[in-house]
Amino acid sequence: MPMHGDLERIYADVLARNPGEREFHQAVREVLESIGPAVDKHPEYADAKIVERICEPERQIIFRVPWEDDRGAIHINRGFRVEFNSALGPYKGGLRFHPTVLLGTVKFLGFEQVFKNALTGLPIGGGKGGSDFDPKGRSDREVMRFCQSFMTELYRHIGEYTDVPAGDIGVGSREIGYLFGQYKRITNRYESGVLTGKGLNYGGAQVRREATGYGCAFFVEEMLRARGETFDGKDVVVSGSGNVAIYTIEKVHQLGGRVVACSDSSGFVHDPKGIDLELIKDLKEVRRERIGAYAEERGGEATFVTDRSVWEVPCAVALPSATQNEIDEADAAALVRGGCIAVGEGANMPTTPAGARVLLEAGVSFGPGKAANAGGVATSALEMQQNASRDSWSFAHSEERLRDIMIGIHARCFETAEEYGMPGNYVAGANIAAYARVAEAMLALGLV
Ligand code: GLU
Repeated sequence: MPMHGDLERIYADVLARNPGEREFHQAVREVLESIGPAVDKHPEYADAKIVERICEPERQIIFRVPWEDDRGAIHINRGFRVEFNSALGPYKGGLRFHPTVLLGTVKFLGFEQVFKNALTGLPIGGGKGGSDFDPKGRSDREVMRFCQSFMTELYRHIGEYTDVPAGDIGVGSREIGYLFGQYKRITNRYESGVLTGKGLNYGGAQVRREATGYGCAFFVEEMLRARGETFDGKDVVVSGSGNVAIYTIEKVHQLGGRVVACSDSSGFVHDPKGIDLELIKDLKEVRRERIGAYAEERGGEATFVTDRSVWEVPCAVALPSATQNEIDEADAAALVRGGCIAVGEGANMPTTPAGARVLLEAGVSFGPGKAANAGGVATSALEMQQNASRDSWSFAHSEERLRDIMIGIHARCFETAEEYGMPGNYVAGANIAAYARVAEAMLALGLV
């Protein structure tokens, strides 16, 4: 889509000021390409330079994280926290520990998070953080020492009213536990609301672990409903086999779909009769093994494939739940050929711009991550709410709240797309609805 003239100039400025940050450019570009109609409708936002301000993080923190491995060797990693926008509430967003993490990665994730959090309708601003630390193959003690060193710097920047981190790739309940322990020790405060995704026996919330995956399945159920369809009897492909993928598979199975493939960075498994989720959970959550082990244990039922893309497996619904840019133009074309009618992004920005164009042009219902995977952060906001009132809700009540939130996000995207004359375009609907909410709040708060 051609960009609105004013936005074209703003985008050129973003490119010039943030050289080399490809993923950040991609995330900004996608939003600026869709919000033209909203910019025209609200000249008062342009007068206040709202878009320029949204593209510039409020604060960017980079720090050294030194730690010692089990043999006594010293390692130096880099830590990040980008506090992007706090118009709607404290900065909120996860921490990613992965060797590929650079400032630009954290900025793309933080930028997306601002819009995602706005879409939930809850009082949370946007931020993101992480490190280039690689947890793969590290012992528990090493992970603990790393987390303690990371928090020894991060603690001064966060707080339940300031900035509330959570997990993302490479950061699960084990890491959140070590981070919370160190925060508690340094500050001498049992400040439950400073981190979300905590364990259930020390302030965590029911359904937080399941929330991103369950929420994605609920969102896609709504997209299917809007086309007069359901999950019932449909073949589904889920990429990844981490937290998001596992709980997406669980909910899709409960809703009547059959997940026939999932993956990790070594390849994918194809199991035409349906993925055995208990086996995946044991391999990935307990034994921390590679996905190839699944096919070995399933005997002749499943095959392990390393030389093709998981998107070549024919399916009605595709749920990319691994990482950014995992569906390119060719993958999207393969999905369309295989009969795919709906794609829900469980991961952040898993579809390239060219891939998204192919899907939209083919009439596939395409739920962008900032809408489809918002269930995780929404349930984090519910965890903050429970921490603030020293309460804890039941699983059933929490899941009901999550489902209502996802139905609300779907309606907001769907109706906004209709209102702006782009029916069925969830990308435009999500970006415009989120932009309008953030812009309205920023305008009200004055030039800060
Ligand atoms: N990392 C998740 C996301 O991408 C969750 C963030 C949170 O719960 O704060 O939205």
